[in-house]
Amino acid sequence: MKNMSVIYNKGKENEFRASDGLNLEIYPGEYIIFFGPSGCGKSTALYTILGVLTPTEGEILVKGENPYEYTPQELVHYQTSVIGIMYQAFYLIPSLTIADNVTLPLIFQGIHPNIRKKRAQELLDRFGVGSHGHKLPEALSGGQTQRVSVARAFVNDPEILLADEPVGNLDSISAGQVMDTLDEINRRDKKTIILVTHDAKYLPYAHRVIYIKDGRVVRIVPNPEKKQIARVDQQKTLVTEMEQLAKVHPYLSPSELKVKSIINFLTQGQTLEQLQRLEECAKLMIDGMMQREQFYQILIDDLEKGGIGLPPTVAEDMTDKICRVLDQSKDVRRYRRRLERNNFFDTDRALINKLAKDLVDECDCKLEPKIRTRLKDNIYNRVSGLSRPEDFYLRLVKSVEDDGLGFTKELAEKMATYFEKLLIQGLEAEDKGH
Ligand code: ADP
Repeated sequence: MKNMSVIYNKGKENEFRASDGLNLEIYPGEYIIFFGPSGCGKSTALYTILGVLTPTEGEILVKGENPYEYTPQELVHYQTSVIGIMYQAFYLIPSLTIADNVTLPLIFQGIHPNIRKKRAQELLDRFGVGSHGHKLPEALSGGQTQRVSVARAFVNDPEILLADEPVGNLDSISAGQVMDTLDEINRRDKKTIILVTHDAKYLPYAHRVIYIKDGRVVRIVPNPEKKQIARVDQQKTLVTEMEQLAKVHPYLSPSELKVKSIINFLTQGQTLEQLQRLEECAKLMIDGMMQREQFYQILIDDLEKGGIGLPPTVAEDMTDKICRVLDQSKDVRRYRRRLERNNFFDTDRALINKLAKDLVDECDCKLEPKIRTRLKDNIYNRVSGLSRPEDFYLRLVKSVEDDGLGFTKELAEKMATYFEKLLIQGLEAEDKGH
């Protein structure tokens, strides 16, 4: 998609921009999820790919061709043989048997009835509904019907499978089966899958998750558990606590997640009202709109005065912590900017040394030179996006003989947690905040 926008009711009073300047590349064999709250424009983006919703601005190219420039015959070929689609509401034809529903797309291809039948049966068998071919759709459960829809979408052997909330109406067991079927089609048959969902529990299936909000792409997150097909840049592979928080708060923007992260570092046992006010202050601190003294003052002021009513010792400790994290995280940001400018070659050992010193000071530990070198190496891997949070932690607890740092679990946990706090604050926010 190049700068692709879809505007419904253009020029009328109720004009609505459902896709707003989407730029996106999807590669053959990828499993992509469009994710976001209901109404954010996921289906709109999907139907432009299907060739049934003309972009108002920009363009969409599939295999280098613009489907909206096809002749009617070419478009039929595209929609039956290049692309397959399945919907939340199935849309099987109620008066046709299951087998006939599946073979229907083959009829438009002019394929001989015997071959049609054979191909349909093979697919129904493969997806576990082989004994239902002679029945009408009404005789099947939701989960079975959706597996029939997979067979229908797949019958022409398309390269790309689109799925619009395919398990939105199913119980969790049937949903799991359908999702596993799609996963197998992606892995075994190497088909590209583009799936729309608002349910965060399905995100682990995707190679990359495209987060959409108000018709725009707000983040693209590669799944660290899957070998990537797309070339992803290192900035985007840094998986932080942000991804975990995003699972708990799927609709928050990156800058809102940053606030959550720091608050969870500062507080335990505060009331909701205190937390809320603290979040507001932390946001101002993160955005550089509030000074240390003001922050401290609000923390100790009484609730009635608009403060948070914390004891001075607690307030002092929190103020110290937030200032330290925000200050030290600047080194992470500097480092990552330089890394990008230098084409990902590690050129700045001074910043890594500084980060190592910060971690050692924070955790109040002494390291001999050999161990300190390993810590720097561990920091470099993590801050460059080459390793994951758990890798960072594991190297800390690994024995010295085994190229680890030989830390106790407590120390390793403390350091790893603190470093993740620095990383998350050091990331460039991709949204502009609210
Ligand atoms: P999602 O799939 O994320 O739920 P959609 O792409 O279906 O979102 O819709 C995005 C927005 O566009 C919604 O606010 C929806 O009301 C609006 N919309 C969708 N289709 C039309 C249409 N045909 N005419 C006008 N507005 C539409």
